Amino acid sequence: MPEVARSVATTPHSGIREMADLARQVPDVVRLEVGDPDFVTPDHIIEAAAAAAKAGYTGYPPSAGYPRLRELIAEKVTRRNHLATSPDQVVVTTGGGGGLFTSFLALLNPGDEVLVSDPVWPGYPAQIHLQNAVLKRFPLDRRRGFALDPDAIERSITPRTKVVVINSPCNPTGAVYGVDELKRVVEIAERHDLWVISDECYDEIILEGETVSLATLGGRDRIITVFTFSKTYAMTGWRIGYVVTSPEMAAIIGKLQEPVVASASSLSQKGAEAALLGPQAVVGQMVDSYRERRDLAMELLDGEGIGYVRPRGAFYLMVDTSSAGDSLQFARRLLLEEHVATVPGSAFGPGGEGMVRVSLASSIKTLDVGLRALASCLRRTASLSR
Ligand code: PLP
Repeated sequence: MPEVARSVATTPHSGIREMADLARQVPDVVRLEVGDPDFVTPDHIIEAAAAAAKAGYTGYPPSAGYPRLRELIAEKVTRRNHLATSPDQVVVTTGGGGGLFTSFLALLNPGDEVLVSDPVWPGYPAQIHLQNAVLKRFPLDRRRGFALDPDAIERSITPRTKVVVINSPCNPTGAVYGVDELKRVVEIAERHDLWVISDECYDEIILEGETVSLATLGGRDRIITVFTFSKTYAMTGWRIGYVVTSPEMAAIIGKLQEPVVASASSLSQKGAEAALLGPQAVVGQMVDSYRERRDLAMELLDGEGIGYVRPRGAFYLMVDTSSAGDSLQFARRLLLEEHVATVPGSAFGPGGEGMVRVSLASSIKTLDVGLRALASCLRRTASLSR
């Protein structure tokens, strides 16, 4: 085969996918590694998409999305995220991932630096690498539940820094950043003339307290906020999300979709319209389940004397496995000996070392079995390494 692009050969592989691929080879595996809700998409959304297919919504939609959906999204963001938004500030994308990719495409020249937290969702490092840009990690405050430390961001800025990525509620840490820290991020971005990509894909998965949309705190012309239907409505396979930004940047992002995806899928867009128009209680019910699972998981870990970071948003739990040494080796051992799949903290960056990520998007029974097995594997491994 002739040579492929250098950036492809050197793109970091997602540690989440790696564990998922390994898990597929293990019989009767207990899957706590994936961030895919175990709920199916609510019926009324599926029915609306099916009806739209029958009614002929099978052609290309406009590149930025159907006008009606953009209108509904603008209303949602204005009302629920408290961010006054008009439809020309919205672009419908192929999931949150597609919104992030097109945003990086719009902003980055080769060699530009992008600041992300450590630990961080591994999608960003791969996407940044594919733009031939340079990833730099700033530490989170581990002792305060991986809280955001704006000074650490400011210390990482160089003349080459172009973008800061903020993810709250955060995957993998479950942290929800406070207003004061977020305000300082906006001030820093203004002072150093940076773009901010605010990944708010878990905006509605709030387990306690509340979340603040970054762009409500100022600096709107330099912020691109990324949202998705994937997590909120259990629609991961529909590949539908959206970005909210200035009308000028929205026009650029819409234009960049044309040569690649053309637009998000027509049927997914019709499903998304139904999601926004239909009963919202379905979201509350799913969030209640994630909270119930989190509480049970924390109780079980407390009983076993195992540390963790209390998640306030998203649906992940970082469990302290440092007594067993290297997190990748421990996660592999847990998979091979106990048939329980998790993600080693190191997959999210050096800042995640000493922990594994457990997904709460699995049934209570699965969590119970998986966490008990984790506890016994941890005891065994820790006593060996002593
Ligand atoms: N951003 C974060 C922080 C995520 O965890 C994910 C998916 O897990 C995404 C973006 C991508 O979302 P989507 O599935 O809508 O592309």
